[in-house]
Amino acid sequence: MKRPLLIFSLLFLLSGCVGGLGQIYPENEVGHMPKWQALHSQLAAYQKIACPSCGQDDWKLSVIKTEEINAFFWSGQFFVTDGLLDLPFEMQSAVLAHEISHQVAGHILLSQEHELEADRIAIWLMERTRGDVSGADDLKQVLRLLAGKWRDSSETISAHPHPNERIDQIEKIQSDQIQAFKPEFHSRLAQISEEEP
Ligand SMILES: [Zn+2]
Repeated sequence: MKRPLLIFSLLFLLSGCVGGLGQIYPENEVGHMPKWQALHSQLAAYQKIACPSCGQDDWKLSVIKTEEINAFFWSGQFFVTDGLLDLPFEMQSAVLAHEISHQVAGHILLSQEHELEADRIAIWLMERTRGDVSGADDLKQVLRLLAGKWRDSSETISAHPHPNERIDQIEKIQSDQIQAFKPEFHSRLAQISEEEP
């Protein structure tokens, strides 16, 4: 079976292999799941920022019946697993932002640079959507989970930077940018613009 692009996931390493993916919940069933509803609302919020020209239902969210933690984008749909939906909501939200970032950046094949770029876009997307910088910490939490389960193999090394490298990048972004998002910085900016003649 040909499924190479399924391995787009941030978290596929946790499941090891996507060949064993479970069944997908039917649409009418998934719509009643509170966890799906919460993440679906988050998807809609991200879509407004990341793809303002998209139609309301252009991005679908499907749930795969498996306790493995996994998420990926495939053929116009975002797939997440039961296992992902069991993580704290902020972590789910960070994973979704990363997957959306692959989509909006047009990444077709995964590379280490694409992974790092998707993290950068995800942080921007979370900041724009939430109006604060908490997303970077949430993404780091996901990566710490990933680091704890990291297994070196030629496949994972070629496609994914080590999670610690990704955490380093996020910390650099935080040290460069976090000041800019502090409320006092915003009020100072407002003050400055009022002072302008
Ligand atoms: Zn990724």
